[in-house]
Amino acid sequence: MFSLSMKGENMRREETKVVQIGNCKIGGGNPIAIQSMTNTKTEDVEATVAQIIGIGGSRMRHYPLRCAYDGGGGSTHRDKKKIHIPLVADIHFDLSFGNTQQSNMEQIRSVLNPGNIGDVSRVREVVEKAKEYNVPIRVGVNSGSLEKHLVEKYGGVTAEGIVESALDKVRMIEEMGYDNLVVSIKSSDVMMCVKAHELIAEQCPYPLHVGITESGTILSGNIKSSVGLGIILYERIGDTIRVSLTGDPLEEIKSAKLILKTLGLRKGGIEVVSCPTCGRTKIDLIGLANQVENMVADIPLDIKVAVMGCVVNGPGEAKEADIGIAGGIGEGLLIKKGEIVKKVKEEELLDTLRNELLNWEK
Ligand code: SF4
Repeated sequence: MFSLSMKGENMRREETKVVQIGNCKIGGGNPIAIQSMTNTKTEDVEATVAQIIGIGGSRMRHYPLRCAYDGGGGSTHRDKKKIHIPLVADIHFDLSFGNTQQSNMEQIRSVLNPGNIGDVSRVREVVEKAKEYNVPIRVGVNSGSLEKHLVEKYGGVTAEGIVESALDKVRMIEEMGYDNLVVSIKSSDVMMCVKAHELIAEQCPYPLHVGITESGTILSGNIKSSVGLGIILYERIGDTIRVSLTGDPLEEIKSAKLILKTLGLRKGGIEVVSCPTCGRTKIDLIGLANQVENMVADIPLDIKVAVMGCVVNGPGEAKEADIGIAGGIGEGLLIKKGEIVKKVKEEELLDTLRNELLNWEK
């Protein structure tokens, strides 16, 4: 059995326990999994399943998705045959998780915050059910709900308090004889979150789910998550991530993928680079770059595509990209590794690029 007593000097993601979430392994150096959370009403099964399929269908099949789950009434899991990505049930305060039938449990993995569940006997009830079905439990602590005695002990909400709270709960579950655990500590204060992860990584052998909580709208959420997750992941801490955004879960997945790709932690997918535009720009480069980004989303190549705003400097500035386009007045260029391949009409630029990508020899 794993336990906190197994802590290493510097427990990094290669050394954490491997935990199976449906068809996805996390921890122990496995690829960092991306999670998101549905924001439909869970009792609206149709809408919830459609949202999950939308995410799962966009080449995310092997990434786990955390799904809001109301403990039985909504029963998203009834449609599990349509869903090909693992689901993590958020049981909130609802213990009817314990009454869910085994047939519905196969693709549901639980997340539980013992702080929310309340007294020890209620936690034990959930742990016993989790043991029965070998379902991993995610132990979560959020800075916003830190216990009063830890706030008093550390003179406020601190990284040390968050870590102590999480480890107390892990210890409690270990004492109940269960070690199929994932740990999640969250704070909306980015640097506090970073410090807490540095502290817990030295003491905890379980995989860590990392995210900056309540990070805000698309812009501020992306910036806070990129900075926070960027530092934490760069320190080789973190086994699964969520970019929390006040927005469409699909945006969370796109951002998470980009963060991992930028850090060199995930390969696959086309990276689009585009110039910042300047006085030489004679086309709607912002529109074109967005169109290219959408167009390449489903093309399974691991290359760099450049979208440049002028034919004068564009080819040279795009020479690190495998392929690119540069727009001029009424016409543009197709470029490969900085070399001009051909001239095309402006309205044909996008299709020309698409054809090249679809016929790309790997
Ligand atoms: Fe300006 Fe051309 Fe450079 Fe884009 S590629 S920033 S349009 S000079």
